[in-house]
Amino acid sequence: MHTTMQSVPLSTNQLLERGKQFFANREIVSRLPDKTLHRTTFEALHRRARQLAAALVRAGTKPGEPVATLMWNHAWHMEAYFGIPAAGAVLHTLNLRLSPEDLAYIIADAGDRILLVDDVLLPLVEKLVPLVKLERIIVAPTCGKPVQQGYQDYETFIDVDATDFQYQELEENAPCGMCYTSGTTGRPKGVVYSHRSTVLHSLAISLPDCLDLSCNDAVLAVTPMFHANSWGVPYASIMVGANLVFPGPHMAAEDLLDLMERETVTLALGVPTVWMTIQQALDNAPGRWQLKQGMRMMVGGSAVPKAMIAAFEKHGLAIKHGWGMTELSPVGTLSWLKPEHAALPEESQYQVRARQGIALPLVELRIMGENGPQPWDGASVGELQARGPWVTGGYHNTPRDPDKITDDGWLRTGDVATIDAEGYMRISDRTKDLIKSGGEWISSVDLENAIMGHPAVAEAAVVAVRHPKWDERPLAVVVKKPGKEVAPEELRAFLAAQFPNWQCPDDYAFVEALPRTSTGKFMKTKLRDDFKEWVSRTPQ
Ligand code: ADP
Repeated sequence: MHTTMQSVPLSTNQLLERGKQFFANREIVSRLPDKTLHRTTFEALHRRARQLAAALVRAGTKPGEPVATLMWNHAWHMEAYFGIPAAGAVLHTLNLRLSPEDLAYIIADAGDRILLVDDVLLPLVEKLVPLVKLERIIVAPTCGKPVQQGYQDYETFIDVDATDFQYQELEENAPCGMCYTSGTTGRPKGVVYSHRSTVLHSLAISLPDCLDLSCNDAVLAVTPMFHANSWGVPYASIMVGANLVFPGPHMAAEDLLDLMERETVTLALGVPTVWMTIQQALDNAPGRWQLKQGMRMMVGGSAVPKAMIAAFEKHGLAIKHGWGMTELSPVGTLSWLKPEHAALPEESQYQVRARQGIALPLVELRIMGENGPQPWDGASVGELQARGPWVTGGYHNTPRDPDKITDDGWLRTGDVATIDAEGYMRISDRTKDLIKSGGEWISSVDLENAIMGHPAVAEAAVVAVRHPKWDERPLAVVVKKPGKEVAPEELRAFLAAQFPNWQCPDDYAFVEALPRTSTGKFMKTKLRDDFKEWVSRTPQ
């Protein structure tokens, strides 16, 4: 027997068409460099993305060819998100926080010929140009100033009649997007998304138990569009008709809270380091911002401390904790409460919500120990591996790498985790961040989360330092809240109530700020380097 169902290839063009057809007047609001707000509609997005597609085809862009963007989050980047795939080409988002040398490596590895860039980022492009072979640099006028000589003006480039533009005929597994991993271990590697993976990911993250995304929403995407597709919300929001709100380059907590209030944001997404600053701003000025009651916030990219979930709850705001990777488009799991958790005490509910959560539909997870897959008992630890239609099965230009993909085709995430009987995954660390003390593993993430629960602590990261007897010991690098004091002895006593004695750090360093990666996570590699001469205080 054969299926009687139609075989219609999935495509991002379908999302663009749907956005215009049903939600033409929904808005895309972008904060510009001068802090004014730029407003446009889904209808205009549709028209201008198709103009960009037509212009790219006219300029000789071939199906499957990468076209790079170096842009903040805003309406022009949205046009690239849809216009580049509509031309049959591949949207290659470049991380604007990388050095010119790293960008040059990535551009060469991808084979980019065309770059779309914000006018405010031209100083970076000037350093990049001597290092790369770009044929065309097209400048988006986010400042409204005339474009400098030697560059092409975006508005002139897309000034073509695209009324009759025909989408390229593509099969659903054709590439539509590309993003490089941040390369914390070795060179960055290219992950290439397909039309099919992007559409399926959009559907899955929109589900009620995931982001619960609909045309009643206004979504503030703090997550950069230059890294891991801004967690997929640019595509999903157009599909369901949710307004999109973009901060542009203004990422200070006050600016984000102003946008949330002004645009009646119902869902905001970002990494914990940004949400820590938002929490502090709310705590410092109670009542200053009138936020939409019940506003959801998806926070992930690194572990969300339980204390943060509880702190936002006091402001009437709900954090949903998610886990993902560039390699997973990026969302793999989200934590939400099941009906049977409703009767649990508040503290236990926070514990569930602080886990990384349940796999999205179609994503499979397993915990691999030395002797094979581990039971889902909440205690058996091993490497987290993933499989699914939006999980990468390899890397661009990289021969099959057994360190990354298993023989039976699962992605090795490099995360160490457990899964409990109810299916909640919990990350205890990244393989390379675990601390091995006297032959026993200590989870840096668990310690960090606990320390950040202390009322005087703003941020904390835990890294291994050398010890002559125990090999490694944990060092807690702590940022105090403004005007608050806390001594190492007090923090140790605080932790002693939650961890066995041998796991608690004896070593504390107080700093003004923690170094961050290009995607806003604590930069453990830099901390390990900064404290490599540290002499541990743990007795021998
Ligand atoms: P990179 O951090 O290398 O830039 P990604 O942005 O793709 O790459 O991050 C993926 C990694 O981030 C995961 O493998 C995991 O270690 C970490 N991560 C993501 N979400 C969470 C989370 N909710 N809790 C703990 N770690 C997380």
